[in-house]
Amino acid sequence: MGQKKKVGIEMNEQIEKVINERKRQDKKWGEQNHSPLLWLSIIGEEFGEMCKEANEYSFSSDLKRIQDLQTEAIQCAACCVAMAESLDRTLLKDLTEEER
Ligand SMILES: [Mg+2]
Repeated sequence: MGQKKKVGIEMNEQIEKVINERKRQDKKWGEQNHSPLLWLSIIGEEFGEMCKEANEYSFSSDLKRIQDLQTEAIQCAACCVAMAESLDRTLLKDLTEEER
């Protein structure tokens, strides 16, 4: 743990990780357009992985678990962004700019 960073810089670093994860997902899976329920199951799986790492940390206090928890949080956030993008392309595609 280094010196405390300014909040904006720290946030930008995490947002950048989410963007990089979105790029990785698109490269691996291509454009994904799913039903809301399928998206929730995908996000639920990622959320479950976050829970697992938090649980493991509570038993071991191993900081590697916190790094893994952070990685899972980024993956979960990226899946939420992917769902939001998908909803724009599908169920919300006919909305005007003003309606969005
Ligand atoms: Mg994961």
